[in-house]
Amino acid sequence: MGRQDFFDHGDLVAVLTTQPLDRLLDYKAPEGGCHLGAFVEVPLGPRKVPGVVWAPGRGDFDRSKIRPVIRVLDVAPMREEMQMFLERAAEYTLTPLPAMLRLATRAPGLGDPPSMRKVYRPGDSVPDRMTDARRRVLATLQEYGGLSFTLKELSNAAGVTPSVVKGLVKQGAVHEEDSPRDVPFPLLDEERASKALTADQAAAAEHLRRGIRSGTYGTTLLRGITGSGKTEVYLEAVAECFRQRQQALVLLPEIALSAEFIARVQERFGAKPAEWHSGVTMTERRRTWKMVGQGGAQLVVGARSALFLPFLDLGLIVVDEEHDTSYKQEDGALYNARDMAVLRASICGAQVILASATPSLESWANAEAGKYAKLELTSRFGDSALPDMRAVDMRGADLPSNRWISSRLAGAVRERIERGEQSLLFLNRRGYAPVTICRACGHQIGCEHCDARMVEHRFLKRLVCHQCGETRPIPDACPACGAEDRLAPVGPGVERLQEEASELFPDARIATLSSDLFGSARALKARIAEIAEGGADIVIGTQLVAKGHNFPLLTLVGVIDADLGLQGSDLRAAERTFQLMRQVSGRAGRADRPGEALLQTYQPEHPVIRAILAGDEDSFWRAEAEERRHAGVPPFGRMAGIILSSPDMQEAFDTGAELARNEAPLRCIGAQVFGPAPAPVARIRGRHRVRLLVKAPKGAALQKALAAWIAQVKPGPNLRLTVDIDPQSFY
Ligand code: ADP
Ligand code: ZN
Repeated sequence: MGRQDFFDHGDLVAVLTTQPLDRLLDYKAPEGGCHLGAFVEVPLGPRKVPGVVWAPGRGDFDRSKIRPVIRVLDVAPMREEMQMFLERAAEYTLTPLPAMLRLATRAPGLGDPPSMRKVYRPGDSVPDRMTDARRRVLATLQEYGGLSFTLKELSNAAGVTPSVVKGLVKQGAVHEEDSPRDVPFPLLDEERASKALTADQAAAAEHLRRGIRSGTYGTTLLRGITGSGKTEVYLEAVAECFRQRQQALVLLPEIALSAEFIARVQERFGAKPAEWHSGVTMTERRRTWKMVGQGGAQLVVGARSALFLPFLDLGLIVVDEEHDTSYKQEDGALYNARDMAVLRASICGAQVILASATPSLESWANAEAGKYAKLELTSRFGDSALPDMRAVDMRGADLPSNRWISSRLAGAVRERIERGEQSLLFLNRRGYAPVTICRACGHQIGCEHCDARMVEHRFLKRLVCHQCGETRPIPDACPACGAEDRLAPVGPGVERLQEEASELFPDARIATLSSDLFGSARALKARIAEIAEGGADIVIGTQLVAKGHNFPLLTLVGVIDADLGLQGSDLRAAERTFQLMRQVSGRAGRADRPGEALLQTYQPEHPVIRAILAGDEDSFWRAEAEERRHAGVPPFGRMAGIILSSPDMQEAFDTGAELARNEAPLRCIGAQVFGPAPAPVARIRGRHRVRLLVKAPKGAALQKALAAWIAQVKPGPNLRLTVDIDPQSFY
């Protein structure tokens, strides 16, 4: 039976709202009827709330009490595949459906009538009096052949004040009219400027194009070292998508810094794509949301939430740097954008490309198992080679306790300065010092709301909690014993490293890049562009610099503490370190100069460090996979983290213990429960955190069992329960 997709006036419809209710609500279809999937406004108690017509009404309710839909919004109805995607994503992540709908409607004013703005074109009359300024305005309009300008664009381009333009409007020499703000994005021309590909690249591109032409679902892991041309290759798949009159989505991890990518799109296709991320204005967001739904945007470049845009005909999703941890984050729903991309594509018959130099173990295993196709680009484009990687054994470096740059590394930096080349000193720690200790009583300054130490940020002249963001001035006296001037920083952050570098290299130009040191993404972008042009000799940076920026003069990477990521109990510690070190090292020697990477370590024999140095990725992955298979953890088993948090520690523990006792629904699928135990960060923002871990065999129906298990406890109003399927990190 086909599904009913139109409801006449008075028919019952079931509406999903964005309100936190656990069911659909019945309403009567409004005058004029409505489509299945229609975006509507409905009454809920005394309020009006937005929603989507999700299904036919069930009518299990007193019909005379059912109220009508208030109005149907003027946007395209939600497509069936999007409804399915939201339902499946909600099931997978155990997120309530209303929260998924909120993700899919994150643009302001969707129901508003089209918003208009004034635009200006050449008029028919000649002004009575010609001035220099007036001439410039008319010449500008002439020059652009009758294109329309906003007032600001026109007066800026002509170098006049807005009143000059207004004067010309009065005279009829310039024509003013209303035009909708939400206009289609400029057409992208797939034939414009493709590069001559190398044989490897061409073969990979052809494979991807075939996938697009097949019009069916498929996922391909595109693996290749930094600079091997992965972007070049997947842009060819994007082009094929345009040829098929389909839309493409490219997800990038550090989207606020995507200028380089946008410029490449512009070069390849002749215009800019639509963007979707936190740096985009609300007006642009709404425009993108609407145009994606009407087919007025061929390509969206975005952050993970772009997956929830209402594409009309999506043919391709690229997940660039697919291993990046920022794809998994809390957005009101805990989801991994990589997995959701695969889910969405499998529902709408699109292709997925997962691109990375250092894939996640999950994707590597899926490719090994034949679930994903695998493409490899093995050589760097041009003559550039991977940097020469070496360990610096810090056990013999003999540094004083407040110094972190070994003489070996310092010597290498000095060589680069002499040759006019750049060095990167990499330390994945923001701020000045991670710990502030009182030399009189030994007290370490901690956050009042979290189980975390405050990090000194000398640049801001404050202590900052990296868990909750709380800041306070750096005190003169110890908050515990009151001793004055005895507080001392312990350990390095990038700001402190900068201090050391300026002492070692007093004449060098040093640039520190850390997300907290820049007021805006734009300021940061500008600084990165300046550095790329040679505006610094030494770059000091956190993982911000590991991601995709191209510094052609950079030939040395010094990793200050290669052991940093190996500490802690995280299941993915080894994988993370391996990826990060390889990625950072890949920054060196991208252009025509060979690079060198020096990894400072206290454990040069550690298997992960050895694998990094040997550059033998497959043997690293195989060893890592074997270990996880043995332990029955992802991707060879399934896992879920449960975090219970409450202002009351006892409540969190008691609920955890109750869950642990009632494990029957989990035992049915062969799953085990561990905990409750204090979470590694045992308190955040004043809430105590208790953690349970569930491990299940690979094929188990984990979500269903979890839902039944959790439903057994009725948490009090202060208790928050979060389920994290496939947790990426344990914090
Ligand atoms: P990746 O995404 O693997 O890091 P890119 O696609 O960014 O690699 O390629 C690295 C650099 O080499 C870019 O500047 C790119 O324009 C250039 N490049 C790659 N392949 C080619 C090619 N076939 N012809 C010309 N330039 C290329
Ligand atoms: Zn805090």
